[in-house]
Amino acid sequence: MAGFDAHRPPEQSIVDDCVHCGFCLDSCPTYALWADEADSPRGRIVLIAEALADGGDLSDEMVTHFDRCLGCMACVSACPSGVAYDRLIERVRPQVERHHARPLAERAFRRLLFETLPHPRRMRGLAPLLAATRRMPLERLDERLAMVAKVAPRARTHDVLRTRLPTRISPSGQPRARVGLLLGCVERVFFADVHRATIRTLVAEGFEVLAPRAPDCCGALELHSGEEDAGIARARETIAAFSGVDYVVTSAAGCGSAMKGYGELIDEASARLFSAKVRDVCELLANEETRTPRGPVALRVAYHDACHLAHAQGIREQPRALLRAIPELALLEVRREPEVCCGSAGIYNLVAPEAAAELGARKARSLLETGADAIAAGNPGCAAQLDLHLREAGHPLPIHHPIELVWRSIAAAR
Ligand code: SF4
Ligand code: SF4
Repeated sequence: MAGFDAHRPPEQSIVDDCVHCGFCLDSCPTYALWADEADSPRGRIVLIAEALADGGDLSDEMVTHFDRCLGCMACVSACPSGVAYDRLIERVRPQVERHHARPLAERAFRRLLFETLPHPRRMRGLAPLLAATRRMPLERLDERLAMVAKVAPRARTHDVLRTRLPTRISPSGQPRARVGLLLGCVERVFFADVHRATIRTLVAEGFEVLAPRAPDCCGALELHSGEEDAGIARARETIAAFSGVDYVVTSAAGCGSAMKGYGELIDEASARLFSAKVRDVCELLANEETRTPRGPVALRVAYHDACHLAHAQGIREQPRALLRAIPELALLEVRREPEVCCGSAGIYNLVAPEAAAELGARKARSLLETGADAIAAGNPGCAAQLDLHLREAGHPLPIHHPIELVWRSIAAAR
């Protein structure tokens, strides 16, 4: 009897691919923080091998090291042997949820997160409370509630409450393709400006855009946290919502990565077909011929690689190409630890706030060293995390999704 059950255990063949060379260690944020082998990709693979072995178990200590993994997939990019650590950790997490008894307070907090974050209507209802909470002295609040208030995105309550986007928008003339835009959960509530810029840019570039209200959420938060049944239910709902489109587009790196994984997760033809249609909005636009002129946007912009774009989807060049095509925009590169996660990582900055805060502070320093006057980041979680830590460093900077800068450029040429 091993430490994992027979339902989608981590694959032994992937474990066996690891030659223990250690090339992944420098890219791993938790190894950078603690220099503990068990908090490195190589060490976690050894723990997985131990749990897979006959007579192995899934100890509390192992779970601690798996929980500390941000799922940033920087180790996948760094590994010269092509070890698919992403597939390992994605299968470990549901096993942990099935077999590990979390303390009551931790279970309750996780439940609270999953009962709010993937539910846009609930989050919208809570937005005024969140804003009021921020005005209170944080020491008077429960520690976890204070953390939620601190890391939540800072959209104005008025904007959160008034958001309504059209569900179908057609370009003038024959559309080049029909795309379905995932509105998602957190992004829909707190980053509606990104959706507006996405819709306007896609329509200007000749795409017909469908932006259905359903699904509430693609399941990324749950899937990346081991809540497998809930995540699969949302995946099925998402697949059903986007039948009849040529592409399914998202402007959130975590959602794109999760939706591209549906085919592996569900292993049905409809899921594989769906995953093959998923595109990050920058990926889609960079691969298509540009139809609209670009006007100047005079900004020095540091581009932040979101882990779920760069490492999980291999999307690095496409957002940069779109930004380089904007006249008068100077694109700056992060030189120190560019591949290391900012600490956002889904619900990580809520369930592991100290580690996330250290990583956020390191990333803020790296971004400030570029001398940028704005940041571009293709993931809502990164945007909120960078905003918080740039403010805490005393140097707040505007943070834009690349598509917002593209739209600003198109508008400037009109
Ligand atoms: S995961 Fe890859 S880079 Fe890391 S130790 Fe194993 S083989 Fe080496
Ligand atoms: S996914 Fe990120 S945090 Fe986890 S082992 Fe790999 S590099 Fe480290």
